[in-house]
Amino acid sequence: MREIVILGSTGSIGTQTLEVVRANKDYKVTGLAAGSNVKLIEEQIAEFRPEMVCMWEEAAASELKTRLEAAPFTAPEIVVGMEGLIKLSSECPADIVLTAVVGMVGIRPTLAAIQAGRDIALANKETLVTAGHLIIPAARKAGIRLLPVDSEHSAIFQCLQGEAEYGNKISRILLTCSGGPFRGKTLEQMREVTVEDALKHPSWSMGKKITIDSATLANKGLEVMEAGWLFDVPLDQIEVVIQPGSVIHSMVEFEDGAVKAQLGTPDMKLPIQYALYYPKRRHLAGERLDFTALGSICFEAPDRENFPALDLALRAGKTGGSMPVVFNAANEWAVAAFLERKLPFLGIAQKIREAMDAHEADWNASPDVGEILAAEAWTRAFLLKSGPAKRVAI
Ligand code: NDP
Ligand code: MG
Repeated sequence: MREIVILGSTGSIGTQTLEVVRANKDYKVTGLAAGSNVKLIEEQIAEFRPEMVCMWEEAAASELKTRLEAAPFTAPEIVVGMEGLIKLSSECPADIVLTAVVGMVGIRPTLAAIQAGRDIALANKETLVTAGHLIIPAARKAGIRLLPVDSEHSAIFQCLQGEAEYGNKISRILLTCSGGPFRGKTLEQMREVTVEDALKHPSWSMGKKITIDSATLANKGLEVMEAGWLFDVPLDQIEVVIQPGSVIHSMVEFEDGAVKAQLGTPDMKLPIQYALYYPKRRHLAGERLDFTALGSICFEAPDRENFPALDLALRAGKTGGSMPVVFNAANEWAVAAFLERKLPFLGIAQKIREAMDAHEADWNASPDVGEILAAEAWTRAFLLKSGPAKRVAI
């Protein structure tokens, strides 16, 4: 039995990972981590019997301890906060750590897991976007595998099998994108959109933060940076292509002009399972593509004018250093403010731009972990001071 630790086990990716583990029956879940969802993690503990569990919130950890007192099995060790996440990632026995927390909180536990020699199944893209220059060399040094879970990156990774080992060079990555719920809309038409409108993703069911990122196209911008790090490809060789319906999960063009694509139904269990059993494929229950019913697959160029977060991400990625940290921290802050109805939808890109412009003077070419976290704190403080935008100029 291989052993797995899952960071973010109560979320969209976390619960689907546990579905894959449940169906295959040959992974032992040794560790779980969540933010505050005591009820669900208690159920997961009863089913999977991990050795160690981390709750981000102190109160949630205390409540979980109390609830487990009467459990008819040996309760796991409960650890708390960042210290707990790092302990879980590096000390709890594991062959692989699946990182599915949301945001930059994943940086330190991911680095700790790498340094402890564990393979990483990476869903938490914010970690790679903001600390890729530390994660990639650390992974190389430790000789561990960094296996993509994000569907586009899993698709690219699958296309590269049988190519990379022969040194066959990528000429372009074609990163596909559904376009999100507002595809075809103008800025004016998006001025009054609500949280509910933005949470209606046309093809994927995901956590709230990434669903909003998909509506602004910030997600695709993060994914371009993620692909740059994972596949060592310059950002101007990565092209975003809108493919409504998410049938093609991404494509790779090689030097001879050949294009390979990975297609499938929009089901995250496929990339999760591929990462867990790489390089093997296994049966996965679920719907299969019906090409005659599908009829056609269409493509469009992304609308950069009405979805400015995409170009802001590319600007951040090309600038590098601390700029992607500021892009990402501003986006995390603005998405949270939008979800709390304190910022209009269009305010998300506006706040990212404000923070990036203000950061130019303090740009750091190669921030270490402390400097990354300081740039994150600076961004949040800057945006808090800038005040919530009630009406946004477009
Ligand atoms: P969710 O919001 O559904 O889940 C987040 C998980 O992280 C929950 O288990 C949550 O716990 C936990 N969590 C949040 N904050 C902390 C913290 N500080 N410490 C410990 N645990 C924490 O997110 P998703 O599953 O949608 O996304 C997870 C990551 O995967 C993101 O980086 C996202 O971009 C990426 N991703 C997601 C995809 C998807 O289909 N959902 C596709 C591709 C990438 P609690 O429930 O207690 O709050
Ligand atoms: Mg994706």
